[in-house]
Amino acid sequence: MTEQAEQQPPLQPMPADWRRALAVVAHPDDLEYGCAAAIAEWTDGGREVAYLLATRGEAGIDGVAPDECGPLREAEQRASAAVVGVSTVEFLDHRDGVVEYGLGLRRDIAAAIRRHRPELVITLNHRDTWGGVGGGGYWNTPDHKAVGRAVLDAAADAGNRWIFPELVSEQGLEPWDGVRWVAVANTTTPTHAVDAGPGLERAIRSLLEHKAYISALTDQDPEEYVRGFLTGNVQQTAARFGGRPAVPFEVFPR
Ligand SMILES: [Zn+2]
Repeated sequence: MTEQAEQQPPLQPMPADWRRALAVVAHPDDLEYGCAAAIAEWTDGGREVAYLLATRGEAGIDGVAPDECGPLREAEQRASAAVVGVSTVEFLDHRDGVVEYGLGLRRDIAAAIRRHRPELVITLNHRDTWGGVGGGGYWNTPDHKAVGRAVLDAAADAGNRWIFPELVSEQGLEPWDGVRWVAVANTTTPTHAVDAGPGLERAIRSLLEHKAYISALTDQDPEEYVRGFLTGNVQQTAARFGGRPAVPFEVFPR
């Protein structure tokens, strides 16, 4: 195992010559589990980051019915975004747990990319299984796979006038072909990384804002749980990033 890890190539530093990013994920908490330390680092450096969530995570807590849970999780998401310097948080209102990959989802994400005009688009693992600490064998969820794949596709759709012509004719959204990279967090096969040192404490506080979700998830002390999870992930990545704790991404250039 150790020998295998040593043979993996080093991760490259993330591209830095960009100003705007749009992070698109399925649920409240996906970015906080995935890459909030990197987002804190970017907003500290004066970059703009906006969040787009496909659902409100309304099916995420067993003891709370969706119509009550959706607003609760939306509020927790806005609070956790604010901790890492993100003030724009939008929701597409696809239904949590049954998000379908398809033209509707691609169109919604392409529209958001045209509105925000990012150079960097972030999403969460679109593959069948998880990376990260001990994650290789764990099956991913259908929503993450659907949204992640649709984001990778919509980065190109956003730049093509003829794929969803109604975005121009009905919404006045001109094509945006300026997405240069799609970076996937929590992937099994990272290529790049962002130094987690400066942003890690705020990433911990950001994930802790998902109070209702975390208290339903574990009996462990929330801070102990969150700190352990996020620190473990960034330390594992350090082995491939010059010994520095880091947030890994798989970068797809365009
Ligand atoms: Zn999720």
